[in-house]
Amino acid sequence: MAIFTIKNTDNKKILCTQSPKNFAPLNEIECATKEDVANAFIRAREAQSEWKHVPIQKRIELLERLATIISQQKERIIDVVISETGKPKQEALSMEVYSALDSIVFYCKRAKKWLADESIKLHGPMRFLKKCKVIYKPRGIIGIITPWNGPFILSINPVIQCLLSGNAAIVKPSEVTPLSGQLVEEMFVLAGAPKNLVQVLIGDGEVGEALITNKPDKISFTGSVATGRKVAEQCGRLLIPFSLELGGKDAMVVCEDSNIKEAAQGAVMGSCMNAGQYCCGTERIYVTESIYDEFVEEATNITASLNQSDQDIADVGATFWDKQLDIIDDHVKDAVAKGAKILVGGSKNPSLKGLYYLPTVIVDVDHSMKIMQEETFGPIVCIMKVKDEEEAMRLANDSKYGLNGNIWTQNLNKGLAMARSLDTGACSINDMAMSYGLNEVPFGGLKESGLGFVNGKEGFRSYCHAMPVVIGKKPSSIYPYTQKSYHQLEQAIKLFFDNKLFRKLFG
Ligand code: NDP
Repeated sequence: MAIFTIKNTDNKKILCTQSPKNFAPLNEIECATKEDVANAFIRAREAQSEWKHVPIQKRIELLERLATIISQQKERIIDVVISETGKPKQEALSMEVYSALDSIVFYCKRAKKWLADESIKLHGPMRFLKKCKVIYKPRGIIGIITPWNGPFILSINPVIQCLLSGNAAIVKPSEVTPLSGQLVEEMFVLAGAPKNLVQVLIGDGEVGEALITNKPDKISFTGSVATGRKVAEQCGRLLIPFSLELGGKDAMVVCEDSNIKEAAQGAVMGSCMNAGQYCCGTERIYVTESIYDEFVEEATNITASLNQSDQDIADVGATFWDKQLDIIDDHVKDAVAKGAKILVGGSKNPSLKGLYYLPTVIVDVDHSMKIMQEETFGPIVCIMKVKDEEEAMRLANDSKYGLNGNIWTQNLNKGLAMARSLDTGACSINDMAMSYGLNEVPFGGLKESGLGFVNGKEGFRSYCHAMPVVIGKKPSSIYPYTQKSYHQLEQAIKLFFDNKLFRKLFG
């Protein structure tokens, strides 16, 4: 079973993809060679050297045209994404189309303000001697390397931000979903973007590597921990700034005082959305023993009622990649061999031809099992009984990952206190992980789940270099150093730092 293969002909690699829905051949695409990657950089440099001078209002106008194009082309985007992923139509519309439009509208509205020069009020004695501005300069070429689980949105979202801030983008989408990646370039062409400002290079990991070797001015990487480590090593050697958005093993803590019905719904949605192939998917659910039976019954009933189908209208679609299906199967089998119990599902879907794993509820799990340790990325509601909230929090933090988490309680203050002690980049209370979809906030993982931020003001500005420009009111030079100048400095230190009122006024 394979959904893509790479043929080697005449020193060219050809990527042949098949649909995970039914293995129908999709397309044969020539992979970029090392030379193609180098040439893309030459074209991108030229395009960016003009784009960086284009006034922000004109850049916003391009992105606004892009929004119109995406809206007009939504059926095509949905068709391509579904052909490569087997997602239900509603997930293609919400995760890929809605999120792209939302991101454009959000950043267009704020770009002028966030890119404007900032006057900085200096503190201490310097405030009398200098002025300072921070200006946000585009970095240049941004290399964007993306995974297959959100194949359109995870590629286009960084491009939107990096173009608005004056950069050119070269995108390397996953070999599993190349056509969805190509849509990004196509949409920008339709929107009338300057030539070569957005280029998509198709290929495997070697193309990703070549993208880094050509020294872009920043790498924005989304993908697995294993590849993220390689990317970080390569960027480190070449001193290229980078951000890493990596995998997760998100925990959900269900407290005794939670609304059990709502928590069970959140658990099933968080675990099964995108057929579980969501970086912030709910992968471990800790439920306190007093409510455990009721919670498990609710979650089991909801999971059993889900409609898994290869048709457009479905609750749970395909696993996008045969390799991932094998990982899910392996994790479930390992858990069962170590004593876990399946309440619903627990196997590939025998009535569907493609890559479908049944929505599953698994209980009696513990931390010796792969399913509680490694990213499973499947539609698995994985529930563990715990004595109390303290044990739940200890186990939630017992992971090498730290992307998101969620806490379910009707006591908001308690929920906030628990969120504070969760070792994750973000947390939801009485909701599944949502923060990637909220453009207002920075998104980034802790521990092995990532480095740096995407989204929000912090993520947006990371496509710029924040350059302080200091304006001297008086020349800095106090040469020659003399006994007198030394004494004056001593006096100033005494005045500003030994006096509590001065510290308060000028600190
Ligand atoms: P991979 O790490 O396998 O691949 C990610 C991208 O890196 C692909 O385009 C891949 O190309 C490319 N690549 C592979 N090798 C190299 C290399 N040596 N140098 C540069 N690039 C390379 O991840 P997956 O595609 O399997 O994506 C799933 C992972 O992404 C999961 O762990 C998921 O949690 C994570 N993810 C994290 C998100 C976050 O925001 N934190 C969001 C979404 C997903 P190719 O595919 O062609 O090999």
